[in-house]
Amino acid sequence: MMEPMAKVTVVGGGAAGLVAAWRAASLGHAVQLLEANGRLGVKLRISGGGKCNITHGGPLKDLLAAFTKEQARFLRPSLHAFDNAALLELLRREGIETYTRDNGRVFPLDRPGSAGAVVAGFEALVRRAGVDVRTGARVTGLLGQGPRLEALLLEEERIRGDVFILATGGASYPETGTRGEVLGWLRGLQVPVQPWFPALAPLPLQRPRPDWEGVALRGGELRLSAGAEGRRVASFAGDVVFTKAGISGPAALELSQATERARREGAAWLAYASVLEPPERVDAALQAEQRSNPRLLAATWLSRHLPERLVDPLLGAQGLDRTQMLKGLMLKDLPKEGRRALVALATALPLGEPQAVPLARGEVAAGGVALSAVDPRTMALRGWDNLRVCGELLDVDGPVGGYNLQAAFSTGFAAGTI
Ligand SMILES: Cc1cc2nc3c(=O)[nH]c(=O)nc-3n(C[C@H](O)[C@H](O)[C@H](O)COP(=O)(O)OP(=O)(O)OC[C@H]3O[C@@H](n4cnc5c(N)ncnc54)[C@H](O)[C@@H]3O)c2cc1C
Repeated sequence: MMEPMAKVTVVGGGAAGLVAAWRAASLGHAVQLLEANGRLGVKLRISGGGKCNITHGGPLKDLLAAFTKEQARFLRPSLHAFDNAALLELLRREGIETYTRDNGRVFPLDRPGSAGAVVAGFEALVRRAGVDVRTGARVTGLLGQGPRLEALLLEEERIRGDVFILATGGASYPETGTRGEVLGWLRGLQVPVQPWFPALAPLPLQRPRPDWEGVALRGGELRLSAGAEGRRVASFAGDVVFTKAGISGPAALELSQATERARREGAAWLAYASVLEPPERVDAALQAEQRSNPRLLAATWLSRHLPERLVDPLLGAQGLDRTQMLKGLMLKDLPKEGRRALVALATALPLGEPQAVPLARGEVAAGGVALSAVDPRTMALRGWDNLRVCGELLDVDGPVGGYNLQAAFSTGFAAGTI
C-alpha cells in the first residue's frame, strides 16, 4: 500500500496525464505535472479538427469492440472504472456540454475553439485539485533500475518521488511534443515494448494523382491486396479523398496500419470499389443496359459510379476517349473489352502500390509499452514498485471515433488511482 500522502510525478500534460494528475491529487497526494510544451494539452487542442471528438457514446461493450481483442481485454477494467458517461459528467460539471452525432461520436457543443475549452476544463480541474503544473519541462531520461525508478532527469535537475506516472503519448505529430523517446528509455530498462508503428495516417501512393487532389470516392470500400497472388487482406467501407501525395479520408486512415504491414512484408496493392456487387453481376447489368438503353453514353454510365472529374481521364486511359468520337462513345458501340474495363473501374478502381506510411502523420501511433507488462487495473509496470504508464504510450490504438481519447482518459484515471 502507498502511504496516504505520496509524492506523485506525472510526465506529460495531455489527455492521460491531465486525468492521472487530477485523480491522484483528488485522492490527497502531492502531485507535480511535467509538460514539455509551453502549455497543456497541445494534441487535444488539434483533435477532431479542433472540435475534439472526445469519446464514443454507447455501451462499454461497443467501445471495447472497436479495439483488438487483446487491447479490449486490457482496457476493460479501466473503462469500467472511468467510462464515457463518467467522463462526460466530469466535463459537464466544468460547464462543457456535449452532443452525440448519429455515428456515435461525442463532441463538445459546436463553438469556436471547442477543443480548447476541453483543455481549459481539465486545466481548471487539475489546478483546483492542487496539482503543481510545470510547463516547458522536458524529461530527458529515467534514472533507476527495476524494481525502483530513482528519479526523472531534466536538463539541469533530478526529480525524485514516491510514484512516477509516464503519460508521454505516442510518436506521431512530433511538433505537438510527442517524440516517442520515452519508449526507448523504457526498453533500455528491460521493459517489454512494441516498436512504434504508423496508424490512422494518410496513404502516400507510388503513383499519386495530384491532378485529382480534393476529389472524393464515396459510398464504397477501400481494398488492400498483398502477396504475389494479390490476395485481399483487408478492406474498409468509407470514403477516400485524393491528396497531392496519395489518398486520405476515413477508409485510407483505417487501412493505413494494415497497408504498412503488408508493404513491409512484400507487395501491397490498393483499389477502391465504388460498387460493392461482384463484377459478374455489374457486367450483366451493363449488358442489360446496352440492350435497353443503347444510346446511353459510356461516360454517363461511369459517372453514376465515379466522380465526374475522373470519368474522362479514366476513359481516355482505357482508349475509350470520348473526344476521339463525335458524340462520345455509346453503350451500343462499346466493345466487349471496353465493357469489362468499365466494370473493372466501377468495382475496383486501381490506386496502385502504397509508399511508406508516415508514422509522423498518424492520428495515433501503434506500438508502445507491451500490455503484458502492465497491470490493467492500476497501470503499474509489472516488476516495478513505483512506475506507471498510461495513454498512448501503451500499446493501444483504436480507430477514429473518440476511442483513442477515451482510452487515454480511462487509463490515466486508473494510473492516478493510487
Ligand atoms: C491530428 C489529430 C487529431 C486527433 N483527433 C482525435 C479525436 O478527435 N478523438 C480521439 O479520440 N483521438 C484523436 N486523436 C488521438 C488523440 O489525440 C491521442 O490518442 C491522445 O491525445 C493520447 O493522449 P496521451 O495523453 O496519451 O498523449 P498526448 O495527448 O499526446 O500527451 C502527451 C504529452 O506528453 C508530453 N511529453 C512527451 N514527452 C515528454 C517528455 N519527455 N517530457 C515532458 N513531457 C513530454 C507531450 O508534449 C504531450 O503534451 C487525434 C490525434 C491527432 C494527431
